Amino acid sequence: MAQPFVQLKGVQKTYDGENLVVRDLNLDIREGEFLTMLGPSGSGKTTTLMMLAGFETATHGEIFLDGNPINRLAPEDRNIGMVFQSYALFPHMTVAENVAFPLMVRGIPKTGIGEKVKRALAMVGLNGFDDRRPSQLSGGQQQRVAVARALVFEPKLVLMDEPLSALDKQLREQMQYEIKQLHHRLGVTVVYVTHDQGEALTMSDRVAVFNNGVIQQLDTPERLYEQPANAFVASFIGENNKLYGKVVLHDKGWCDVRLDDGSTVRAKSVSAGSEGSSTMLSLRPERVLINPAAGVCEVVCQARVKDVTYLGDHLRVRAMAFGEQQIVVKVPNASQERLVGIDHDIQIGWRAADCHALDVVA
Ligand code: ADP
Repeated sequence: MAQPFVQLKGVQKTYDGENLVVRDLNLDIREGEFLTMLGPSGSGKTTTLMMLAGFETATHGEIFLDGNPINRLAPEDRNIGMVFQSYALFPHMTVAENVAFPLMVRGIPKTGIGEKVKRALAMVGLNGFDDRRPSQLSGGQQQRVAVARALVFEPKLVLMDEPLSALDKQLREQMQYEIKQLHHRLGVTVVYVTHDQGEALTMSDRVAVFNNGVIQQLDTPERLYEQPANAFVASFIGENNKLYGKVVLHDKGWCDVRLDDGSTVRAKSVSAGSEGSSTMLSLRPERVLINPAAGVCEVVCQARVKDVTYLGDHLRVRAMAFGEQQIVVKVPNASQERLVGIDHDIQIGWRAADCHALDVVA
């Protein structure tokens, strides 16, 4: 593999000298990659981003940018662009002055500045807004100015910390698309922080899922969703049915798991322990079939429908199976299953390969 563009090696961070908020972080980021750090609040994402930017120092470990150690470099000497959640625009300056600011502090000659600012504003679709003040712009426009300001000095790395969380849903989705387009066009490396899994899955080449200062899984969006490495990732990304039980047989990547009511189901072992250990089975609602045709599913069981919610493109059926176990099924609207009625007994089933046995200790 080519040398990573950004490399964090054994990085740790404590603020109080006791608790590690980032523990032994090892992360390689490729040049031109869009990498997202995703995780619940307090999992260490922003701290990691701040260490990359130079606003926080690592307690242990080394950070490399383009092969060079940057631990001891001041933020302004790292040539990294930043976009924050609060746009952090200077209210007393015009749009053009805000965008010109990083060029001024870098001592770029005045003669070249106007042209660069114009280009950066054009890039984010804000031609002609030069003389406005931030207060005269909408939230989306302000965030575009912040993006222009981060890109104007042509950094090779841009860090974005929850840049869209202040925007409403529609605008957020539009801006996700625009940022993704800019990333494609410019080929710049982006490290993005969010707690919104939908945003992470749509925008990223790879996602690092954080919990308690540790990366739980680093993977493409598809692999994170299809093959979560542990119970934390399975629960954090997408909706999923969880069935708890004990491994009674573990054989060549498959296992038989005994559930609380005594039934045994076959599952694909992703990270389940050996025989006798506790496991969580993870099963996506869209992979459960109602009244499956014979031979399609390895696991079939009786279930009682508790409620049915109409959601336009699909129905959400909540059923009870294996005694008191709730199983949610997503049924495409086009199929016959929309006739399922409350308190009906039905059969549900799934392929053993779609049911993942995971270690419960994440
Ligand atoms: P995230 O971005 O995933 O929400 P943070 O990196 O902001 O997580 O925080 C990780 C942990 O570090 C949290 O417990 C937070 O309270 C703590 N923390 C963050 N910044 C500071 C700080 N400047 N001083 C002390 N503790 C901090």
